[in-house]
Amino acid sequence: MTKDKLIAIANEFGSPVYVYDAEKIVSQYQRLTNAFKSVKHLKINYAVKALSNLSILKLFNSLGSGIDTVSIQEVNLGLAAGFKPEQIIFTPNGVSLAEIEEASKLGVQINIDNLSILEQFGTKYPSIPVCIRINPHVMAGGNSNISVGHIDSKFGISIHQIPHLMRIVENTKMRINGIHMHTGSDILDIDVFLYASEILFDTAKQFKNLEFIDFGSGFKVAYREGDIETNVEELGKRLTRKFNDFCKAYGKELTLAFEPGKFLVSEAGIFLAEVNAVKQTTSTVFAQVDSGFNHLIRPMFYGSHHDIINISNPKGRERFYTVVGYICETDTFGNNRRINEINEGDILAFKNAGAYCFSMASNYNSRYRPAEVLWYNDKAHLIRKRETFDDILKNQIEINFQKQKEAAISK
Ligand SMILES: *Cc1c(COP(=O)(O)O)cnc(C)c1O
Repeated sequence: MTKDKLIAIANEFGSPVYVYDAEKIVSQYQRLTNAFKSVKHLKINYAVKALSNLSILKLFNSLGSGIDTVSIQEVNLGLAAGFKPEQIIFTPNGVSLAEIEEASKLGVQINIDNLSILEQFGTKYPSIPVCIRINPHVMAGGNSNISVGHIDSKFGISIHQIPHLMRIVENTKMRINGIHMHTGSDILDIDVFLYASEILFDTAKQFKNLEFIDFGSGFKVAYREGDIETNVEELGKRLTRKFNDFCKAYGKELTLAFEPGKFLVSEAGIFLAEVNAVKQTTSTVFAQVDSGFNHLIRPMFYGSHHDIINISNPKGRERFYTVVGYICETDTFGNNRRINEINEGDILAFKNAGAYCFSMASNYNSRYRPAEVLWYNDKAHLIRKRETFDDILKNQIEINFQKQKEAAISK
């Protein structure tokens, strides 16, 4: 999207605003499916938690994608967006048996990552096919917050517990139709991914009624110029060979499933915020925008890098700025960044704002969550209104202290 179009969107819909480029989402989806075109049955389940706007879900539905969900609310969102229950997989962690039952009753594929829940579910519903989430204990992430494969991780059933798992399956006579792993975001190394997949294949061999193997996600995208991203084409070639060999040995054409979030939507998103003030201190020039970690928390939460561009003054002289928000707490988006000269009123664009940005937004400081716009077919479509003061008041119940006092006195 051009800078002029983004400025026009900020003018029309106000600031701050999230903008998503549908074309980029579609091309990432196609890139992934192309990379695995030699797999007979491929299933991409978009991870809803990355960006859960209904129109985004509908876009994925139109592409033939399924969805990966982590809460009953995400399951219901998927159904509301038009997905059929069989296009939805439920991969929660740490939820109650009741929530798993609720999703199962809706007809979605259940993925269980806990032996206690597995035993309870299998005992009650032995005929409902279940996928199990294995933890192969492969460290794949660059950041311990998003690395979910290590030995002390809360995710998945440890491969060291397979004997116990098998005993539960035999005792309950439940049916396991899928094996799953998700080793966390940001897999840098295809060899690491393939190593984990070997562990998954080894586990899969022990189950006779499989329909699919789900390799989760962890695809990395570029966050700054020169960043390496997952070479999905190479991964496609190498994993396809292994997968097809496995299917041959297994004696059945299984489905290969993935559930990427970040890979599909991160780069499609841009966050626009307006500069409220430029503040020069003794050592630093701050650019203060009309946003903060209430709208985009990844830099403060994970130390994530988001490129910041001044789209109002793209030819201005480059200077160093620390870009911060308006929240009454430290909310630094970027430290000491080289940016084209910033003036008050300029619009700054934050890149890679598609995944885990709006979906993590809050009302902290009683601010409104921003609007969302989808750029589709060369037009800007508002897909979520900015909140209003009513949204801040909604659900709050006021106590009438005067009445309480009077009641106490008359007692
Ligand atoms: C969050 C999540 C994903 C998506 O991860 P990305 O890094 O965004 O691709 C996939 N699977 C599960 C089970 C998840 O929880």
